[in-house]
Amino acid sequence: MTVGVLGGGQLARMLALAGRPLGRRFLFLEPASNPPVASLGEVVRGSYDDPVCLNRIAAAADVVTFEFEAVPAKAVRRLAAEVPVHPSPAALAAAQDRRAEKRLFQELGIPTARSCPVDGVGDLAAALAATGLPAVVKTRRFGYDGKGQAVVRSPEEAAAAVKALGPRLIAESFVDFERELSVLGAAGLDGSRVFYPLTENHHRDGLLRASYAPAPDVSAGLQAEAEVLAGKIMDRLGYVGVLAVELFQSGGRLLANEMAPRVHNSGHWTIDAAGASQFENHVRAVTGLALAPPAARGPTAMLNVIGEMPDLPVLAAVPGAHVHLYDKTPRPGRKLGHVNVTGPDAEAVMETAASVWRLLPGAGILPPPSKSKPADGASRRTLVSRPVAFAPELGDD
Ligand code: AMP
Repeated sequence: MTVGVLGGGQLARMLALAGRPLGRRFLFLEPASNPPVASLGEVVRGSYDDPVCLNRIAAAADVVTFEFEAVPAKAVRRLAAEVPVHPSPAALAAAQDRRAEKRLFQELGIPTARSCPVDGVGDLAAALAATGLPAVVKTRRFGYDGKGQAVVRSPEEAAAAVKALGPRLIAESFVDFERELSVLGAAGLDGSRVFYPLTENHHRDGLLRASYAPAPDVSAGLQAEAEVLAGKIMDRLGYVGVLAVELFQSGGRLLANEMAPRVHNSGHWTIDAAGASQFENHVRAVTGLALAPPAARGPTAMLNVIGEMPDLPVLAAVPGAHVHLYDKTPRPGRKLGHVNVTGPDAEAVMETAASVWRLLPGAGILPPPSKSKPADGASRRTLVSRPVAFAPELGDD
């Protein structure tokens, strides 16, 4: 069976690495030359809406999936008319527009930050009355890795952000969260579902730096609450594949921030520390195989390699450090790989994680898991406070 993947970055690469042992073949549609998937299957080089390329994918693939949300919905609908596409074009469309996504959450009774659409400075007074200040102004489409958004603390800052970010925005209440979590689950073609343990995520400058899984201090009730909300989204969208929902834990409850209808950076730990990885379960789901058990085998830290390459021989010599590099040319702010740190207990994992972190150039301070944070919250994440314009290079989180 051949899986066509829209996108040829690291997520597509890890899908193929997980799917090939299951006898699945892969075909990728990717505009860039020499992508991370170059050695893993045929790469159809062209834009996502090129009809010739889409015809080639439709002719050669038995099923199509995608590795990021920014693929044109029209192209995906066109493919779906000829070949099964999972997750569905409806799931993709919901995740492509923050307003549609918020509406979906609200319809399903999933708590979110208060929000209001903003199409220009004229809408701001009403929007800020709904959200209060501080607020976060975000582009409705194609924001990623914290780009296309700004935290605003006054009506003047809000007006400046609207001018900088352009029309078609959304304003959200600023959530003073205790921590960021994500829930990842997979839905099979046969209706079966599995959910991974909640993951705790730490961002800096809008980029995920580190994840801890299973997230510390998660009650059975909190895990169940996350699974219920992800399950509601799956139900509504007739979902097949891996779904990630990014969450804020605030005042003991969960608010949904956004969803990703695909494998997700916060699930990379599953490669080395779960019964089956998110990549394997996504391939299983979209190709009609039974889902595999997701349980964590022990505590893990997932550390992203961003911008600069570490000294590989030194990194690879650290016991408990599982290195995954994506074959990408280093560039500031670019995700080049990740390291999953495993160990017999959380303390050992943190010790190894600290050693690994020191080997990652420019990594700064390792954000500790929430349990070990100072009570005054001094190590809380910093938010992007100035508007960051949408960058044309597509995101890969
Ligand atoms: P997003 O692109 O929506 O995933 O936002 C990127 C990051 O910005 C999130 O992971 C949070 O750290 C932060 N953020 C986004 N929205 C809010 C919000 N409404 N309140 C507080 N922080 C936010």
